[in-house]
Amino acid sequence: MAATLSRQAFLRASLALALSPLLRYLPAQAAEGVEVTEIAPGVFVHQGLYELQSPQNRGDMANASFVVGNDAVAVIDTSGSAVMGRELRDAIRAVTDKPIRYVINTHMHPDHVFGNAAFKEDKPEFVGHYKLARGLGSRAERYLMITKTMLGEEAFEGTEVILPTVAVKDSLTLDLGGRDLVLEAQPTAHTDNDLIITDTATNTLFLGDLLFSGHVPTLDGSIKGWLALLDELSQKQAARVVPGHGPHAMEFPEALAPEQKYLSAIATDVRKLINDGKTLQEATKTAGFSERDAWKLFDHYHVRNVTAAFAELEWE
Ligand SMILES: [Zn+2]
Repeated sequence: MAATLSRQAFLRASLALALSPLLRYLPAQAAEGVEVTEIAPGVFVHQGLYELQSPQNRGDMANASFVVGNDAVAVIDTSGSAVMGRELRDAIRAVTDKPIRYVINTHMHPDHVFGNAAFKEDKPEFVGHYKLARGLGSRAERYLMITKTMLGEEAFEGTEVILPTVAVKDSLTLDLGGRDLVLEAQPTAHTDNDLIITDTATNTLFLGDLLFSGHVPTLDGSIKGWLALLDELSQKQAARVVPGHGPHAMEFPEALAPEQKYLSAIATDVRKLINDGKTLQEATKTAGFSERDAWKLFDHYHVRNVTAAFAELEWE
């Protein structure tokens, strides 16, 4: 049961009727808007693109979700720019006028947190892992500079770093009215500030970037930690999982398998190369390359992943 809603699509259709001879001259990005899919009752997901940041995609690379309770709405990740955040907010407002009380960030990466500014007017609690403030705070200047360069002035407009107002040390339950969200802080894996969320009403699990599908995983924490955590998470019961990058919703725990295979391939190859006395440079040419055809953006991120894994595993 998946209803697809897009206010922009509706507006575009209306415009098409009124202005069809002009429509082809409208910029494609203005006509696209944010499309959200209801993957379970009251659970909506916008799927990001498998791309690098660009003026055209305006930072629309990560999945962004929201959950609607009887009393309030919680947003889970806000996409990669204030412009995208505003469109996500418009999509929420097309579904419900209930107050947006919580904006949850699954971790510190810009494509998940840079839409936060669009929700300031709602005066929500911004919620994250207890290490999110430190991680994002210390990288803020660099993240803003890189994002501004990649997106350009127009798509970057209004983007700022908004740190959490509520920190999750272990776990926290948010009551949206008739449904609870359970937030659980995780040990270092994709980053050192990964937070997972379960919507108890539908048993939907949000893993943020602990789960990539299609888009090659990116390692900014610990490969050993990530592999160990995936083993642990696979024991959970969930009706479906929402990845940080990938389809709106996937089967759980089956969805974890390709990522486990990718990270295991890197760890196995890198350990062998280290044992054989090979250098990092040699590792970046061979380790994990058996996975190359399985992932989008492999050539952009894989060498960085091998480099991070090598640095971690050479001290085992
Ligand atoms: Zn990430």
